[in-house]
Amino acid sequence: MSTHTFQIGDYTCHSLVDFTRVRSLRHNFPKINPAELTNEIEALALDLTVDTEIPLHGSVLLVDTGEKKILIDAGLSTAAGGHLVQSLANLDLTPEDIDLVVVTHGDGDHIGGLGNYAKAKIVMPTNSYTLWTQDTDAMVEDFIKLFREVQPEEELAATAIGRAKYADVLKQLGDRVVLVEFGEEIAPGISMFEASGHRRDHAGVQIISQGESLMHIADAWRHPIQLKRPDFYCLFDSDPETLATTMNSLLEKAAQSDAVVFGAHFPFPAIIKIAAENGSYQWIDL
Ligand SMILES: [Zn+2]
Repeated sequence: MSTHTFQIGDYTCHSLVDFTRVRSLRHNFPKINPAELTNEIEALALDLTVDTEIPLHGSVLLVDTGEKKILIDAGLSTAAGGHLVQSLANLDLTPEDIDLVVVTHGDGDHIGGLGNYAKAKIVMPTNSYTLWTQDTDAMVEDFIKLFREVQPEEELAATAIGRAKYADVLKQLGDRVVLVEFGEEIAPGISMFEASGHRRDHAGVQIISQGESLMHIADAWRHPIQLKRPDFYCLFDSDPETLATTMNSLLEKAAQSDAVVFGAHFPFPAIIKIAAENGSYQWIDL
């Protein structure tokens, strides 16, 4: 599976493909009127329609600080079709080489592969751990509520049972879990930031080295049409209003800081920059 290597200051970063699916914009944004999607496609002069099947990647970021190898998210489980371990093998690495896995949120394509990293410490925000272990039912409901209108009851029930298991996984990790506050350093220049909306526990990761920076926005947004329309939310976004507010503040910060922006579901290699122009934002592929 593909890998792409780049540098943020002294830190060597690798974008690693975990999975690739295809999905049309209509399928990605089922709650948004297709005519509105078409307007934005035309405004950006994109060569597609609402029904064009486009690749949707799941990518994971590996940061090598020289001292530590830090994986941001664990990808899908291998049984569910995750290829992250193969992508690591392309870099001559095995899961045992990973020191820390930082968890941005408790969705299957981000935590499904946690079991592969038996030697790593698992880093996550205190609020995420607390939400999942003390309020599991509310977190499961948060996860499935937008699916209620489009999925049959049995599928929803199976998803809910699968999600609830995450709370048990967290408890079983015991002292391998390292809880951090937003802004607290995980390694020099590396910290998590609050980015609620996609999920209640959704967070991002900031990496700064030698004046260069990267913002890992995880699943805060996935497609260029959302830059002008942060109100365009997908089936997986639990709280659209909070998400739009979060997106606006992340976009402003990304444009001001000239940071490399890593998105878990951007087209591979999953890195872009954001430019501010006449009150709106532009997606710049790297
Ligand atoms: Zn995701």
